[in-house]
Amino acid sequence: MKKDTKLIHAGQNKKRNAGIVNTPVFHASTVLFDSTADMLDTQDRALKKREKKLFYGRRGTPTHWTLQEAVSELEGAEDTFLTPSGLSACTLAILGCVKAGDHLLVTDSVYEPTRGFCDSFLAGFGVETTYFDPLIGAGISALMKPNTRAVFCESPGSHTFEVQDIPAIAKAAHAKHALVLADNTWASPLYCQPIKLGCDVSIQAATKYIVGHSDAMVGTIAVNEAALPGIAKAISAVGITLAPDEAYLATRGLRTLSVRLKQHHANAMIVARWLQSRPEVKRVLFPALPEDPGHALWKRDFSGASGLMGVVFKRTSAEAVTAMIDGMELFPLGFSWGGFESLMCSSNPSRAVARTARPWTEPAPGVRLHVGLEDPEDLIADLAKGLARFTQALG
Ligand SMILES: *Cc1c(COP(=O)(O)O)cnc(C)c1O
Repeated sequence: MKKDTKLIHAGQNKKRNAGIVNTPVFHASTVLFDSTADMLDTQDRALKKREKKLFYGRRGTPTHWTLQEAVSELEGAEDTFLTPSGLSACTLAILGCVKAGDHLLVTDSVYEPTRGFCDSFLAGFGVETTYFDPLIGAGISALMKPNTRAVFCESPGSHTFEVQDIPAIAKAAHAKHALVLADNTWASPLYCQPIKLGCDVSIQAATKYIVGHSDAMVGTIAVNEAALPGIAKAISAVGITLAPDEAYLATRGLRTLSVRLKQHHANAMIVARWLQSRPEVKRVLFPALPEDPGHALWKRDFSGASGLMGVVFKRTSAEAVTAMIDGMELFPLGFSWGGFESLMCSSNPSRAVARTARPWTEPAPGVRLHVGLEDPEDLIADLAKGLARFTQALG
């Protein structure tokens, strides 16, 4: 089946859901058993054999199974774990792959809170992190130590949008017996399947495009067989569970992911092309543009682009960027992205804390745009007024 067809039907289970199209929200903590034997049997089947059996609310209900099965099918994964945010999906996936004394390699372009977890938390548990140049490719071999257990990628990178050569990194990492994880949030499982490119784990901040409506926080960790036991253990030990209402909203959002992403991609291309034509703009960071340095890899490994991009100005200042952002009408200022609406925030990847392996040398601050589902003509009119404020404030 083609991806658009899978998206509509993945995880649906007419029998399990009494014929109801969308799996209802099961609110549950206690699940009652018929006897001790039944309890022990269910425990064995639910926990050891990973069968879809109701055991205890924290261990999941049909509301969760539907989302898990759908994401597994789209990601090409053995199984999928659900977490209460995208960040917890990143951190629990890492926790499931490393232990004290291990070494972890993380892309220098990683989402900043993931970096914060490695530096300020994981380090305290005796796990050492080294950041690598996102463009390293097979060269990652040279950074692998005998105790390197995992390599964490994110492509395109947060704020800087470098596309990583995931197949080359995965091949080199596997040669030295490390697991490979990828934060796949930008592309969603519809436009990139890291596990098919050689990764062991594909992570989604499902808060973004899967939920798609800026009204729920969800993380997904899709795993192959190699990564499954460690991550299952971490999730179980820490006691992480996703609230059933959030699982429901994520599944509901997932069904329209394809039509939304097509429009995000189309609108983003129009806005990106217009920005490229502007005298204030040095570069638009968006791999779907043929001029982008990551375009060839994007074309090889992705089947589409989402609506998130960076803008680098020729000359800039914090005051000019603030003047632009604070007067926007259709690009409000706020964290996160992936919902139906456009957003804008300032972006400064040249700060010392943000990059260590390959410092960002482009003029900063720039802006990060999420191009939403509005009419692109209106978005461009708003951006034109924003750039006029920018230029005036720049003096
Ligand atoms: C937003 C984001 C996250 C974190 O997701 P939350 O649901 O906000 O915790 C992780 N990775 C990337 C790439 C993101 O953009």
